[in-house]
Amino acid sequence: MRIANVSGRLTLLTDAGGIDVERGSEGGFAADTAAIYERWAEFRTWADGQPTDAGTPVADEQLGAPSPAPRQVFAIGLNYADHSAESGFAVPDTTPPTFTKFPTCITGPYTDLVLPEGDVDWEVELVAVIGVRAERVPAAKAWDHIAGLTVGQDFSERVIQLAGPAPQFSLGKSYPGFGPTGPWLVTPDEFDNRDDLTLTCSVNDEVVQHGRTTQMIFPMSELIERLSAVCPLLPGDVIFTGTPAGVGMGREPQRFLNVGDVVVTEISGIGTLRTRCVAGSR
Ligand code: ZN
Repeated sequence: MRIANVSGRLTLLTDAGGIDVERGSEGGFAADTAAIYERWAEFRTWADGQPTDAGTPVADEQLGAPSPAPRQVFAIGLNYADHSAESGFAVPDTTPPTFTKFPTCITGPYTDLVLPEGDVDWEVELVAVIGVRAERVPAAKAWDHIAGLTVGQDFSERVIQLAGPAPQFSLGKSYPGFGPTGPWLVTPDEFDNRDDLTLTCSVNDEVVQHGRTTQMIFPMSELIERLSAVCPLLPGDVIFTGTPAGVGMGREPQRFLNVGDVVVTEISGIGTLRTRCVAGSR
C-alpha cells in the first residue's frame, strides 16, 4: 500500500491515481495526513478493501510530506562505515549517534530550498514513519511498529554543525526546507527485501552518493530497538537512518550546494525527491 499527502489531504494511491480518504471513507477517516498514524491498523484494514483501479490522477506539485507534523524526528549519524571514514570519525559500536531534525524543517518531495549562509551539504537517507507506538521493542518485533518507508534528504549546514567546543548536529540540520521527505509512504510488505534498498543522490545529474541499506551498521530493526529503549516512539514519528559515503564535506576538494543546483534523491522501490537550491533572505 502507498499513501500520499496530496494538497494536504490524505490519499490512498492506486493504479489509477489516488482515492481521497476522507471522501472515500465517507468521513470515517479525516483528511489530515498527520492524524492517520494514530489509527494505523484500522486504516490499513479499510485501505485493503479499496479497489486498485479507482481514483483520480495526482500531480507531482500537489505532493507534501507523508508525515507532515511528527512529534519527534530522530536522525542517525555515522550509520554507514564508508561515511564514518570520510567524516573522520570512528565507526560506532554500541550506540548509534542520534540527533534531531527539528520538525519545522520537514517538507515535501518537490521543493525549492532557500540556501542559508554557510556550507550546505546533501545526505540521501532511508526514512521510516512509525505506525504503532514503540516502547522497549526488541529488534525481532520492530517492523510491526513501522507504518512505512519513504525517501529523505538530510540537508546539513556544516559550519553550524561543527562549530563550538563539541559538534552539535541538530541546529545545522534544521533550517526550513532541510528535511524533504516523500514522494509517498510505502508499506514494508511492498518490498521484495525491505532491508536491501539502493540509495542514490545526484547533484545536477552527477551521481554523488550511491549505496545500499544492507551497509547500515545498525539496521532498521536494531535502530527501533535502541531508540525505543530510551524514548517511546509515537505514531507519525520520523526516523532518518543515516547516509552512505559521498557527501560534499568528505570530498577533496570539499563541495557544497550553490544557487541553481538541483539535488535528486532516490531510493529503489520508493521514488524520487527533487530539490532546487534558490537564493533568499536567509
Ligand atoms: Zn544524516
